[in-house]
Amino acid sequence: MIEVSGLTKTYGNKRGITDISFTINEGEIVGFLGPNGAGKSTTMNVITGYLSATAGAARVADIDILENPLEAKKHIGYLPQDPPLYLDMTVDEYLNFIYDVKGVKSKKLGESRKEHIARVCDMVGITHVQSRVINNLSGGYKQRCGLAQALIGDPDVLILDEPTVGLDPKQIIEIRNVIKSLGKNRTIILSTHILQEVSAVCERVLVINNGTLVADDTPTHLSAMLTGEHKLEYRIAGPREKIVQVLRSVDGVKMVTPTIQAEPGAYEYLVESDEHLDVRKLIFQTLSKAGYPVLMLKNQDLSLEDVFIQLTTNDKKSSAKRG
Ligand code: ADP
Repeated sequence: MIEVSGLTKTYGNKRGITDISFTINEGEIVGFLGPNGAGKSTTMNVITGYLSATAGAARVADIDILENPLEAKKHIGYLPQDPPLYLDMTVDEYLNFIYDVKGVKSKKLGESRKEHIARVCDMVGITHVQSRVINNLSGGYKQRCGLAQALIGDPDVLILDEPTVGLDPKQIIEIRNVIKSLGKNRTIILSTHILQEVSAVCERVLVINNGTLVADDTPTHLSAMLTGEHKLEYRIAGPREKIVQVLRSVDGVKMVTPTIQAEPGAYEYLVESDEHLDVRKLIFQTLSKAGYPVLMLKNQDLSLEDVFIQLTTNDKKSSAKRG
């Protein structure tokens, strides 16, 4: 549905993005994650036809955005960082205006203008404020109006640039839920510098830093790939020093670090093993033989925040990048 290949954009002699390539299929909600200045807006602006690329190409619904911008744009709903709202219009006036600007054809949609606007308002939950002046709405409702304008004309691709910036926690959850429900039958790219946002909303994440793509994966898989199975957290009942000795005696175990006393008579340990070995069975057998019961075992998960820091600061980026 969206195909970007070798996309490069320079601003004068300043680098915006370099050689970015990815494909997003129909029905995917993909997070575009990176710190401020990473190149997210530049990439989105090129995909939506607001900026021309210095090199490379972007195709939406099989249409090249540079060769045929008008046709390509019919497939795109865009919510820029600052939604282009006319504050002194009512929601209804504004959406009617957008309907005209986009040149929507009722015949093509199979519903009247009124029906279409009513359906869009219903999708983003603004029906009850339709007759209110936009300026008097809360930040969350203004953002919903922004989403509504993106949805006018029923585009199959939605591009949302930092859709929850400036909203309070309750509004953030509401907007995320709206986006999730919209994603059921649309392709969505959502840019954010908030790591929890991609975990909450997206099935896949593209990580961008310094204008280049450093990872393309699922939030869960990215985290698993970077930790592997080789960092385990154990809670074991029994004397700490003894247990450290027993754990260290297991083949493949590289490091054992006691962490906290988690309950009376039981401590937690971080066990690091060779990356290619699964030491769990052996540890279980050895501890069982020594008479020390395992009360808990889990992989040490990296938060997306940790993943992001690792990806953007060290050379694990190449192994995390999916071809
Ligand atoms: P993000 O959206 O991830 O915050 P941007 O795409 O806005 O990042 O910016 C990427 C880089 O391009 C930054 O270094 C930024 O300073 C630069 N840049 C963006 N827009 C312009 C512009 N109009 N003129 C010059 N440099 C720009």
